[in-house]
Amino acid sequence: MINQGIVNVSYIIATILFILALGGLSNQETARRGNWYGIIGMAIALIATVFGEVTANYDKLIVALLVGGSVGLLLARRVQMTQMPELVAILHSLVGVAAVAVGFANFMDPGRLAHYAGIELTIHDIETYIGVLIGAVTFSGSVIAFGKLSGRISGNPMILPARHWLNLMLLLGAIYYGYEFVQQSAAGGGLNPLIIMTVLALLFGIHMVMAIGGADMPVVVSMLNSYSGWAASATGFMLGNDLLIVTGALVGSSGAILSYIMCRAMNRKFLAVIAGGFGTESGAAAKGGGEDQGEVVPVEALETAGMLAGAKEVMIIPGYGMAVAQAQHTVFEITRTLREKGVNVRFGIHPVAGRMPGHMNVLLAEAKVPYDIVYEMDEINEDFPDVDVSVVIGANDIVNPSAQTDPESPIAGMPVLECWKGTTSIVLKRSMATGYAGVQNPLFFLDNTRMLFGDAKATLDEVLKAL
Ligand code: NDP
Repeated sequence: MINQGIVNVSYIIATILFILALGGLSNQETARRGNWYGIIGMAIALIATVFGEVTANYDKLIVALLVGGSVGLLLARRVQMTQMPELVAILHSLVGVAAVAVGFANFMDPGRLAHYAGIELTIHDIETYIGVLIGAVTFSGSVIAFGKLSGRISGNPMILPARHWLNLMLLLGAIYYGYEFVQQSAAGGGLNPLIIMTVLALLFGIHMVMAIGGADMPVVVSMLNSYSGWAASATGFMLGNDLLIVTGALVGSSGAILSYIMCRAMNRKFLAVIAGGFGTESGAAAKGGGEDQGEVVPVEALETAGMLAGAKEVMIIPGYGMAVAQAQHTVFEITRTLREKGVNVRFGIHPVAGRMPGHMNVLLAEAKVPYDIVYEMDEINEDFPDVDVSVVIGANDIVNPSAQTDPESPIAGMPVLECWKGTTSIVLKRSMATGYAGVQNPLFFLDNTRMLFGDAKATLDEVLKAL
């Protein structure tokens, strides 16, 4: 056991480390350091909690830590980079379920009525109620997001008739049962309203994420990230644990900022995302997919290598397919070879490329691509008219010109990388299949586009050999 003073100091140090971690993660060059701050902060927090706050049942705690830790370790070692978004989603669901479990345990604690009375009891009950509410929404929403990201559930929005009314009813129900809960709790009851609200919140989470279309999933991922933070913060209030309150608030607010950034990247309003229905397969999205768009012009790896070697300005646009093919190391080798030949190679990163925020940056950093040639979309979109060859590696939605030209398109209004304004675009993909939003891409049929079909890793290996 360590005394409360040491626990408090440890919590303050952990909080500072978490803030430094977030600061570090905002920049690629400092991200590694940021991760270390986070790891050390979490280790300090865990040790301080286990030896400072816990007073009994060490045997059960150790078993739980060992089981949880081993499962986490195994999952983290096994997971493919392309499965990271699903893993993150399912981890968010665990935060949600923990908040629900702590809420119920807190409520059923026999000492509750002895500890709290009057207004204190009411406040404590409201904390419990809100904690369980946010936790249940986070849990079921994250499970559905996991299903959508892993392809187990269709990415199409499920639009129920009168769905906004349904949401309103669920909200009013949650408020009504909240009132009932606080009233009954003071008289020694309250379990039933708590259970009913939990069911309503679970349904709300399912309905909310089911209604959101494929194209809006980036916002959903960051939104659930934020919810999981608020769920943890609510748990902190229930347990009277300051560190959990602060840490949850850090995750909650950074997730909210990320949601805002993702919304801006997709030119969407947050409320419109929650209202759902963007990236529909029926109706609008079907348009363009079935139309005869003309012929595509295939190209071979050898010719591609020639075009790249003869270019002055090359822009590489990575997308989800680069992650699937694990082609980032070959991309790095090609970049190095071209730069040695005097070609100016840059990378253009779309904010929603891949399947999670920062997905492409992580892959490129792993392959040791220099940070100073990696640009955000806003920084380089105007430069495309000067680009000789754009290499689109397994990207589709983020280079779809119909976002600008077709107001009916499900991705209409989303900013895209305007590679077609350059001299030539070479698109690497395996087939003519659509991307995540399920929309056909007119870029493939343009006169200045060449298609290099095949797995991106295999074709890029050939290009590298030819270079
Ligand atoms: P897309 O999903 O639009 O396109 C990926 C393309 O990669 C496909 O057309 C596919 O074509 C190709 N591909 C897949 N595997 C390979 C392979 N092994 N080799 C070569 N090509 C391959 O990806 P983008 O990155 O362009 O766009 C991201 C999309 O994901 C957006 O719609 C975004 O909204 C959504 N999204 C983003 C999230 C985020 O946080 N970033 C989260 C959730 C969704 P083919 O099958 O023919 O090879």
